[in-house]
Amino acid sequence: MAILVKLCTHWSAKRFLWLATIIFVLVTLCWYMTNPLTAETGQRKIDCSQASSISEAVNRMEADDMETEQTGSYVPLFQSRIVHLDLKGAPPKPAYFSEIFPLLAKLGATGILIEYEDMFPYTGLSLNNTSAHNAYSTTTISQINQLAKDNHLEIIPLIQTFGHLEYLLKLPEHLHLREVPDQPQAICPTQNETLPLLFQMLQQVAKLHPESKRIHIGADEVYFIGRCNACQERMNNKIWSTSDLFIDHVSAVAKFVNEKLGMRPMMWDDEFRSFSEPQLVQSGIGSLVDIVVWNYKPTLELDHEIWTKYLNVFDNIWAASAFKGATGSNQQITSVRYHVENHRAWLRLIDEYKDTAYISKFKGIMLTGWSRYDHFAVLCELLPAAFPSLAVDLLLLQYGDNHLHFIDQEAVKYLGCSGSFVFQMSQETYYPSCNFPGWEVLSVIQNYGQVMEQYAKVLNDSVVRGWLTDYNLAKQFSSPTHLSGIGTELSYLQNSFDSLKRESETSFEAVYDSNTAKEWFETHVKPMADRINELLMAIETLRTKNTWPRRPL
Ligand SMILES: [Zn+2]
Repeated sequence: MAILVKLCTHWSAKRFLWLATIIFVLVTLCWYMTNPLTAETGQRKIDCSQASSISEAVNRMEADDMETEQTGSYVPLFQSRIVHLDLKGAPPKPAYFSEIFPLLAKLGATGILIEYEDMFPYTGLSLNNTSAHNAYSTTTISQINQLAKDNHLEIIPLIQTFGHLEYLLKLPEHLHLREVPDQPQAICPTQNETLPLLFQMLQQVAKLHPESKRIHIGADEVYFIGRCNACQERMNNKIWSTSDLFIDHVSAVAKFVNEKLGMRPMMWDDEFRSFSEPQLVQSGIGSLVDIVVWNYKPTLELDHEIWTKYLNVFDNIWAASAFKGATGSNQQITSVRYHVENHRAWLRLIDEYKDTAYISKFKGIMLTGWSRYDHFAVLCELLPAAFPSLAVDLLLLQYGDNHLHFIDQEAVKYLGCSGSFVFQMSQETYYPSCNFPGWEVLSVIQNYGQVMEQYAKVLNDSVVRGWLTDYNLAKQFSSPTHLSGIGTELSYLQNSFDSLKRESETSFEAVYDSNTAKEWFETHVKPMADRINELLMAIETLRTKNTWPRRPL
């Protein structure tokens, strides 16, 4: 105290207050960065050795000092933040999970929704052909469980039980279980074999996840229902609509999960959107399952009436957003901004219920990351290429909607990148280097984006459209003057495609087995590379001509 009095006598009060403020800011900053905190408390965990120098930190504070203070007091609207791993496309090598689980936990994830599809090691005569040839082993699944536990992440397995059963129904031995004979999309709920087969699948999955408390039974987008003779007859006898048939099937599955597996079932909501509230109330479905309401758009396209209905019917409601795989069935480059807007829209919606009794019904959010649109579709965005999007979205859920600049910079730091993920003029931003697991894959995808841009430019070139058409080739009639110029451009592109092939083969190895690199190249690069080779050969043929016939050709 004596020192303070002495200082006050020598310094003006204004200078003293200024000094005290700087000391306070530095002490607060140091405390903030040295507190190791868990994902469950919704607070951050940063190694102090990774923190920038004091001067850099002060500069950052100057930029968003108020934001930093406020983020500390923000209570996340979603206590559970579950990241969806869609294994129906580009399933990562098991070792990759050991690299990403700690990162996901640091970014604020509290769990993982594993959609196995054909990557689960099903056993038994009726199911062993259902697994892919490169499906995970039981040992791998135990390792995934342990890794999740080590990182305080809940594991929720997802097994489809109605629609999107292509991986099961495509097989000859299950053909007779299809609702529509030539459509392997939906299973018939009336056939005697259906429920025992589904129960067997659920039982096997539950057995390999002894510590999981919940299981997701899918049930979205059932495109074919009540079409077969057996279903029609049952509906006629019971005076049922297709809605009744749907509720009856999912209720049977949900009861099995509750009573026989001792787990809490969850399911997608979309089939219920058109159902009436009295119908849902009467069915008792509201207390049987937790509903997961999905919408992936920057502006949520869900009618207000749906919310009134769901809040009156269901005990527990989950939201489902998307961090990738929702902007195009063959999309390769993830737009961070698009998915951020989707998450912001969800935060705004739930915020409307913050001061009502309904808020306790919202249990959490699932950040979906689709790998294919369905079993038969090509690969869309790869997981490592969407990590900037996932990181920003997770931090947004943790810190709220008012701190986007701060969140953006935190995400950039966590992934060891530079620049900005959110505040870019173009959504196809090139990050020169990052340092997170699987960064090599993002690098290849970025190069792919640039090569595709060049490809589109060359194919739209006036020379290609005017002197290198199928007609020119069929008639062997073109201008050597123009062809020589475009040939150089095409050769340059051919080299770029060759480089992409080499890069994908080596870079994908860190995350995937060789099948993914092969599929990705054959789907997304080879058709373009082949087209360029065709054009180069066409030029070669056309240039063998030195004299040309009179018109008409
Ligand atoms: Zn049927």
